[in-house]
Amino acid sequence: MYKNMLLLILFCGAALTPELNLFSQELISGENGKKTSLAWNPYADYPVYSGNDLGITWSPQSTLLKVWSPPAQEMKLRLYRSGSGDNLIREIACTREPDGVWSALLMGDFRNTYYTVQAKIDGRWMEECADPYARATGVNGKRGEIVDLASIRPPGWENDRPVPLKNPTDAILYELHIRDLSVAPNSGIRNKGKFLGLTETGTRNSHGQSTGLDHMAWLGITHVHLLPAFDYCSVDESKPEVPQFNWGYDPLNYNVPEGSYSTDATEGATRISEFKQMVQALHQKGIGVVMDVVYNHTGLTHNSNFDQLVPGYYYRQWEKDGKYGNASACGNETASDRAMVRKFILESVTYWAREYHVDGFRFDLMAIHDMETMNQVVAAVRAINPSALIYGEGWTAGDSPLPEPCRALKKHALKMDGVAVFSDDIRDGIKGSVFDEKSTGFASGSKDQSESVKFGIVAAGEHSQIDYAKVNYSKAPYTKSPAEVVNYVSCHDNQTLYDKLKSSRPDATEEELIRMHKLANTIVLTSQGIPFLHAGVEMKRTKHGVHNSYNKPDSVNQIDWDWKYENKELTEYYQSLISLRKAHPAFRMPAAEMIRKNLVFQSVDDPQLIIYRLKDHANQDPWKEIMVIFNGSESEKEVSLPAGNWNAVLHHYHFSGEGKTVSGTLQVAPVSATILYQN
Ligand code: CA
Repeated sequence: MYKNMLLLILFCGAALTPELNLFSQELISGENGKKTSLAWNPYADYPVYSGNDLGITWSPQSTLLKVWSPPAQEMKLRLYRSGSGDNLIREIACTREPDGVWSALLMGDFRNTYYTVQAKIDGRWMEECADPYARATGVNGKRGEIVDLASIRPPGWENDRPVPLKNPTDAILYELHIRDLSVAPNSGIRNKGKFLGLTETGTRNSHGQSTGLDHMAWLGITHVHLLPAFDYCSVDESKPEVPQFNWGYDPLNYNVPEGSYSTDATEGATRISEFKQMVQALHQKGIGVVMDVVYNHTGLTHNSNFDQLVPGYYYRQWEKDGKYGNASACGNETASDRAMVRKFILESVTYWAREYHVDGFRFDLMAIHDMETMNQVVAAVRAINPSALIYGEGWTAGDSPLPEPCRALKKHALKMDGVAVFSDDIRDGIKGSVFDEKSTGFASGSKDQSESVKFGIVAAGEHSQIDYAKVNYSKAPYTKSPAEVVNYVSCHDNQTLYDKLKSSRPDATEEELIRMHKLANTIVLTSQGIPFLHAGVEMKRTKHGVHNSYNKPDSVNQIDWDWKYENKELTEYYQSLISLRKAHPAFRMPAAEMIRKNLVFQSVDDPQLIIYRLKDHANQDPWKEIMVIFNGSESEKEVSLPAGNWNAVLHHYHFSGEGKTVSGTLQVAPVSATILYQN
């Protein structure tokens, strides 16, 4: 998400301007050794709690609640029979503990009891709200629920493991919205729009072809990257019969699965169990699960759980007027640089990794976070799962009180270990800017994007044959390892690949658009780095030209499974391309030094032609030499091959098993990718 949807009203700063330590600033070492201040923090004097028991600690004998709220004068815990409605059991006054913590100890078994908390601050009772650490909630996330997590596990869960990866570059990501996958009538999936929709096998479209989970397994992707699957605000979970759609970039309860994707949002355990069943079913097919996480802002601002319990603390403010920062363009931005916010994020990601066995995290608008937080996320998550993937959008959607040198920006990827950033350089280099429908890229006829594409091919790293001055956005390498970049050409934001090609090339025939489509993702799937596909792209997914479909109906967002039949040849092309990448480690080198040594571009005096070789069994590839030729022009090109016989495995838009033998000169088709090898 780069631009939102909820234009929430910024608050009037005066009411919440805190009294503590107004001028507190800390210093860090910035660029060139210059001292740079961290973001303004008027709450620097708040105590920090170092325990790991915030939220509920349940046992059959007792339940302990702990809530952090230094400014509170009183704290109430309310117990309810249900997640909504008028069914209060009782109200308990919490006890003040050291370090800003409030606690309540209940003797007896309170399993399946719902609860809320309410703080009294400056003599006023704030709104009753769910505990931000809640791990289960009732409908619409209004009340937490006391659960026994150990009992909410599908059969065989003890044997479930994340997907092991030798290197992050071995991953092939598939970005998917849970509802989109199954909601179309022709998906053949029973649990439409639900977590369980991803567990069904043997499902078929109207033409008898596989859909859903079986389709993804057949396609060969290694990880699904799920758009927000934690509890968000915008879909009313109490009306499952009403079709509702949202991407979900409006977080409500970070440690709880979204209720509208469960078969019963009113019962807290159901969504937990069904999320785990989904992870388990994907793992059984060898597919990992990456969660899109949105710790950078909350869906609500002053009504959020955070602001009702500790006003102001969880969000950044501008020093000049105390108003909330809005680098998310959604009305607020969280303050990952503050101790208890960073702690919250770290405890949340490690909870998902440990309890739900997820395989990684994609950080929305990651540059709203500070680099230190991201480095700590990597360390904490990899301690649980060494194969975990951590990547994010290395940009913000607006200015932030967090000084630029601290931000987890794309250009700072060099300073973060194990965090990958999305490459907008290759994305727009291949198919044109996302901000201009008419602009084209290398695959759609542009004559000035080949250097941006070459920069993407070498995983945005240092390589002697790249002229950085000619790269579209980045004038310097920003990775020290190919594991630090995610290459893609389309995602949920903006137009689908097909729609973008069509908007920018209204003159092109359908056949020509398909050639561009193939060339675009052939570049992505043969480039060094981590490749990423927008779900359905392999079936020529369309959103009928819509850019920002975050709240559009299913008719815009759903995957229409008959596309698989209508675009059979294209879909099979993608499947072959993925098989090729998986069979050939040369396309997945794990180190920049290996890329510098083994990847050599052929110098060509043609801005629409890119030719490179992967040499000497690169990364222990079974093929000695691989030659890759991308022709972005609409005319056939003649390419001189190095001496000897070559086997053409991809030529004239088609894959062929062992490949036809060629030598001397080779004609390459208009707008095409060609892949040859030699032993
Ligand atoms: Ca929700």
